[in-house]
Amino acid sequence: MEYLSTRDKTLRRSAAQAITMGLSRDGGLFTPVSFPSLSALEVETLRGMSYPHRAAYIMGKFLEQFRPEELEEFARRAYGPEKFDGPAAAPLRQIDHNTWCLELWHGPTSAFKDMALQMLPQLLSASLRLTGEKKTACILVATSGDTGKAAMEGFAGVEQTKILVFYPENGVSEIQKLQMVTQEGDNVGVCAVKGNFDDAQNGVKRIFSDESMRETLAQRGFFLSSANSINWGRILPQVVYYISAYCDLLNTKAIKLGQPVNFCVPTGNFGNILACYYAKRMGLPVGKLICASNCNDVLTDFIRTGVYDRNRPFHTTMSPSMDILISSNLERLLFDMSGGKDELVREYMDQLAQAGRYEISPGIKKRMQEVFYGGFCSEEETASTIAMMYRYGHLIDPHTAVAAKVLTDYRHETGDKTPAIFVSTASPYKFCDSVLSSIGEAPVENSVDRIGQMAGITGVAAPVRLAALKGKVPRFGDVTEKEGMEEKVLQFLK
Ligand SMILES: *Cc1c(COP(=O)(O)O)cnc(C)c1O
Repeated sequence: MEYLSTRDKTLRRSAAQAITMGLSRDGGLFTPVSFPSLSALEVETLRGMSYPHRAAYIMGKFLEQFRPEELEEFARRAYGPEKFDGPAAAPLRQIDHNTWCLELWHGPTSAFKDMALQMLPQLLSASLRLTGEKKTACILVATSGDTGKAAMEGFAGVEQTKILVFYPENGVSEIQKLQMVTQEGDNVGVCAVKGNFDDAQNGVKRIFSDESMRETLAQRGFFLSSANSINWGRILPQVVYYISAYCDLLNTKAIKLGQPVNFCVPTGNFGNILACYYAKRMGLPVGKLICASNCNDVLTDFIRTGVYDRNRPFHTTMSPSMDILISSNLERLLFDMSGGKDELVREYMDQLAQAGRYEISPGIKKRMQEVFYGGFCSEEETASTIAMMYRYGHLIDPHTAVAAKVLTDYRHETGDKTPAIFVSTASPYKFCDSVLSSIGEAPVENSVDRIGQMAGITGVAAPVRLAALKGKVPRFGDVTEKEGMEEKVLQFLK
């Protein structure tokens, strides 16, 4: 399978090259030239497999360059018992007769980012071998909270790599910050940025496209790569859990093979829901893809009107991983929905860069609306959904609550009774403050002590690694203006 740039179809690379580079030189995102199909017979076979076997099988369809035994080994390491807290890496939990919750936070950092970031470093290492690259890969990450920690956890100690994470100074939760600044490993670094997530992400993109920076680093023996969801090696492992969830649902006998299922995904950078769309493109019987946003509702408006307009106030919410006004992976969707019109994608992305706004053609809009529904959830609704779900015995985090609420709204609005899965992207213990307040409890003063407090009140066990944050000493305290990010990279890669 070859990969092409969304901004220039003639630019083609192997999977190993695409994963090594992260972002294409022209600013485009690598996308497979076609989608391998997944037959009913294959789904039938996958039903009987464990998660690591499913992952190796599905990823193998996109990665012919990699040996099957190698992918099996990667999957076993990524999703095995040393990393995940149960035998099912991505368990389905039944909510009512027609609704399930796909829990993606049973990995080492308690956020769904682990699903991809336990795999990406292994894919990258193998890609460096396959391409004969001798320089050290420096992974630059802009994080809205969860990616940074999950990426450091995945890359710590991985040979021929270094990783530097930028996070918005006031845009992540205290637990998220503590997780990052206490990360161990000689090849990791963390720095706060005075600005929001988009500032951090734009800074990273700027550094990536800076020729002189590239030359300087090359002389020092480094090249830049990305662990953000712009990297194909991030998206591909995420395709797996949608197919896996479908298999698990089949195994409960709640659906028959071929019957469609709707997915509702709490969305920020559009990576997670894009992976669901790709599973659908492979032939998985997915009905509607429901895109759930918090009050940063730029995607809701886009799906409803066809106008993407980032010129609007930015809100800091209790679901910070979705506080995003520029969803990078939308570019991959536009490329696919336009039938591969790279010049059109380039035009939209230019307009977005210059005016912060673009309007898609009526044809693309129609195709998009056939597949996607967009909805958003206010802060009050997020809190009341957490409270309501808790009364029914489910402790969920604010991101998950946004998805649960938007799924309910979708069903009320459309009357669609298709079985549905909403995606749970973080452990409630990453956001104790908001969850405790939502269920009517006053959080104690110290953010780490809230973990024990919440476990005491709810009787739900806290993830072991989060509980272990108590008493840990920060290793990093760097802060930079957004204009100073280049300098931080140069210091880190001395
Ligand atoms: C990253 C993240 C999201 C958003 O996922 P995207 O792939 O960026 O759309 C949602 N919830 C949580 C908890 C996250 O960490």
